[in-house]
Amino acid sequence: MQKNGELLTEWLIIDTVYDENKQPIRRIAIFTDLTERIQANRTIWRQAHFDHLTDLPNRLELKERLNQRFKELKKNQKHFVVMLLDVDHFKDINDTLGHHYGDNLLKEVSQRIVQATKNADFVARIGGDEFVIVFNDIKSTRHISQIATNILLSLSSVIHLKSEELFISASLGIACAPDDGENTEQLLKAADQAMYKVKNNGRNGFEFFSQDMREQAQARMILLKDLRCAIELDQFELFYQPIVTLNDLHMHKAEGLIRWQHPTRGLMSPIVFIPLAEETRQINKIGQFVFTQAIQTLNDIKRITDDNFQISVNVSPIQLSTPNSGIDDWYTMLKAAKLPASSIVAEITEGLMVNPEELTQTRLKTLVQSGMQLALDDFGTGYSSLAYLQEMDTDYLKIDKRFVDNIQADSKELVLCEAIIVMAHQLGLKVIAEGIETTLQLQLLREAGCDYGQGYLFSKPLNKKDFMALVAGKKEILSK
Ligand code: C2E
Ligand code: CA
Ligand code: CA
Repeated sequence: MQKNGELLTEWLIIDTVYDENKQPIRRIAIFTDLTERIQANRTIWRQAHFDHLTDLPNRLELKERLNQRFKELKKNQKHFVVMLLDVDHFKDINDTLGHHYGDNLLKEVSQRIVQATKNADFVARIGGDEFVIVFNDIKSTRHISQIATNILLSLSSVIHLKSEELFISASLGIACAPDDGENTEQLLKAADQAMYKVKNNGRNGFEFFSQDMREQAQARMILLKDLRCAIELDQFELFYQPIVTLNDLHMHKAEGLIRWQHPTRGLMSPIVFIPLAEETRQINKIGQFVFTQAIQTLNDIKRITDDNFQISVNVSPIQLSTPNSGIDDWYTMLKAAKLPASSIVAEITEGLMVNPEELTQTRLKTLVQSGMQLALDDFGTGYSSLAYLQEMDTDYLKIDKRFVDNIQADSKELVLCEAIIVMAHQLGLKVIAEGIETTLQLQLLREAGCDYGQGYLFSKPLNKKDFMALVAGKKEILSK
């Protein structure tokens, strides 16, 4: 006890002092005040176990608590539920508004979650914009769904951050112990897989973990593994789909489309593996493969025609935003092949144009300055802002197949196509219609003033041998 009455933790050492004859003459007691040291230890522990921004338990603390729950579960059979919440598009908000706003937003989100889950055991923040909410012993799915709905609802009302008004949403994955996982790691993984499903379904919602999610995730892992060695094993092939001028059906361009010959699953669609390749940055290597192939083919074409033939390559946003993607080597590669930069058209998507990162912006500018051309792919499926087109120096606009599919005389889609074509022309862009399958579509698009067309009516994507035969004029594009 201190003089002021406060309790004090101390360390006591008692020692004995001896005389020359080794007889004890005195005992000494040394007291050390440990209050500060204990306080410091406590602070260190807290820093290691709690998140400094929201003051919620962090990943380490969450794991320790869940490990404890699993131990208890063996004894008392008490089930528990974890919800993994991830704020949708948080990175965009953070990048656009800055980290200071991002931090304040996360504080607000954490408060709203805590408010909305008063019956929760606890809420943890396990990184960036990810939170985990743990509930003890709720058994009915209806009850859990109700709570999840409440959380999402509480996040949906406007958030005021200084002068900004923000609307956010979140994706929630739910897993129940012990059914969905026998240990902490498995359970959190299950919640993550459920959350991933919500993201894939368009975000802003919740999903319970199910066994087939685990199977899908496993299949995905295997595919990712196979993808990693597909280039080395020579399993990719670039196909070419002709792009023709609509008035005379001459082919002056083609689009390069990648194909993956999987050893056991057969020909895989790029729609399946491109997103995976983007996730793992594997797309950069694939992009380099595509570019190399395109250059070789252009050189082969040059030998048989004197045409200014162009090949379009699809460029993923990842290739533009990753520092060492290889895209900066394209200019030397073209030079080495003695090809003008204008023989390549880079097809990019609209998403790229909304808040592009600095590196992406610089690269797009360099690309245009080099003489390469730009095509805006899938027009009409994304943000569809004509303002971006002008800003980006785009040369071509590709009308998405979805529009082309439904055009008929007097249809809404035809009016829309006509309007897009007129506006594009006013901005100095040429229009390519994708996915033309019928002569009626061809005729209507021609009448609407569309410049180019691509689709099964003219030709499916062809392997290099068949494509070269077509270029050499050994085959007809379409019996006119
Ligand atoms: P995209 O760039 O919109 O390519 C057009 C897709 O429409 C191609 O599908 C093509 O085969 C298909 N198509 C063309 N005409 C018709 C038609 O008349 N009817 C029908 N039903 N389909 C038609 P594909 O080859 O399966 O490629 C799908 C997507 O994968 C491409 O869409 C593109 O976004 C991506 N992709 C393909 N190759 C590459 C690549 O080398 N790199 C990157 N990053 N993405 C690629
Ligand atoms: Ca394309
Ligand atoms: Ca397209």
